[in-house]
Amino acid sequence: MIIFKHSASLSQYLDSRRSNDTTVGFVPTMGALHDGHLSLLEQSKRETTLTVCSIFINPTQFNDLKDYQKYPITIEQDINKVESLNTDVLFLPGATEVYPDGTIELEKYDLGYLESVLEGKFRPGHFQGVCQVMSRLLKIVMPRRLFMGQKDYQQSLVVQQLLNAIRLDTELLVCPTKREAGGLAMSSRNVRLPEPERKKAGTIFQSLMFIKQNLRPGDLVGLKQKAMTLLIQNGFTIDYVEIADAHTLRLTSSWDGTQEIVALVAVYLKDVRLIDNMLLNS
Ligand code: AMP
Repeated sequence: MIIFKHSASLSQYLDSRRSNDTTVGFVPTMGALHDGHLSLLEQSKRETTLTVCSIFINPTQFNDLKDYQKYPITIEQDINKVESLNTDVLFLPGATEVYPDGTIELEKYDLGYLESVLEGKFRPGHFQGVCQVMSRLLKIVMPRRLFMGQKDYQQSLVVQQLLNAIRLDTELLVCPTKREAGGLAMSSRNVRLPEPERKKAGTIFQSLMFIKQNLRPGDLVGLKQKAMTLLIQNGFTIDYVEIADAHTLRLTSSWDGTQEIVALVAVYLKDVRLIDNMLLNS
C-alpha cells in the first residue's frame, strides 16, 4: 500500500496508472474505521482494479463544534486495517492539502430541497461541507467508481446531485449498511456510547423493522407515531422519524402500495447523535 499525504503527488501517481485496464475505485472516510468502512473497501477491491481510501476529518461538515472535537481518531489502527485488505493507496491529507485557500470562501452548492429536509434541516451547513470536501477529493482522485454507504442515505443523494452538477464521469455505488449484532448500524460515533446505551441503541433498528413489517397502503402517521413511542420509551430524544420517497426524499404521510419509500431516523442517546434508515419495499 502506498500512503500519500500530498494531493499533487497522489494525482500524478493515479494519472500515471490510469489506463484502459485500470479502473480507480474510491472510498472516502473520516477514519475511526469499522467493518462498515471495510465493506466499502472490499466492494471496491472486487469491482475496480485500483482502490484508493482517504481518511480526512472534514471540519467544514461539522455543524456542531463539540461533535468535531470529540470525533474519534484511531489513525494507527486505521492504517493497519486498510493495509490488511491490500488496499492500493491510502490518502492522508492535512487540511491545507484539501483546502489550500482556507475554508472561509469555499464554493456554495445549490442543493435545493435536499438541504431543507431531515439532515439538511437538523444540521445546517452539513451538506455544504460534504460537497466542499467531496468535490475537492473527487478532483484529486478522479475515480471511475465511488463507494459510499447507504447508512448515510441522504448524503448519497446529495453526492449524486453533486456528481451530476460537476459532470464528473464517476459512478456512485451505494453499499449496504453493516450492523452490530443487536442491529445498531456501525458508526465511528458508536465508540462514544457506554456499553448499556450501545445495547439499547439496537432499538433504532427495531423501530425501522417495526415500520417495515407493519407497512400497509394508506395512512402512515400512526405507524411513525408507534415507532417514535418505542424510541422515546427507551430513552431516545428524537430529531425525526420520517418516511420519504426513496428517490427524491419528499416526505410522505400516506403510501399507495407501489411508491418506493424509505424510513429514516435521527435520534440522540445521551449526547451521541445516531442516524439510520431502511428501504421499506425495495
Ligand atoms: P464516515 O467515515 O462516517 O464519513 O463514512 C465513510 C463512508 O462509510 C460513508 O460513505 C458512509 O456512508 C460509510 N459508512 C458509514 N457507516 C457505515 C456502515 N455501518 N455500513 C456501511 N457503510 C458505512
